[in-house]
Amino acid sequence: MIKNTIFSKIISHEIYADILYQDDLVTAFRDILPQAPKHILIIPNQVIPTINDVKPEHENILGRMIISASTIAKQEGISKDGYRLIINCNGHAGQEVYHIHMHLLGGRVLGPLLVR
Ligand code: 5GP
Repeated sequence: MIKNTIFSKIISHEIYADILYQDDLVTAFRDILPQAPKHILIIPNQVIPTINDVKPEHENILGRMIISASTIAKQEGISKDGYRLIINCNGHAGQEVYHIHMHLLGGRVLGPLLVR
């Protein structure tokens, strides 16, 4: 069974988030606990709990997430210096919210991908 999370309430504007972009497929907003000067979450408007749950019919949503990330990175002024996109899946990756979300992180040198 697919369960709503706090992110559904952000999409519907029931709870506040600093939303940077929203269209028919995706919503992007600033992370409440930023881990870099720019830390934005890009999520599908439809609940998809994890990357394990994506299906061929989600292709347009997943494409829109990447295109939105590219647009937002330019708007936030970090596209030239660079940034990182991360999607965590399940426990080993530390996924906390079971509504897929792409982290867009930038605004400083991010260092190695994984803690050594
Ligand atoms: P995960 O660890 O699941 O990949 O990332 C979840 C992210 O969601 C975390 O970076 C966390 O700070 C962010 N987050 C959790 N709850 C909220 C919220 O209510 N509002 C916002 N803006 N971000 C949230």
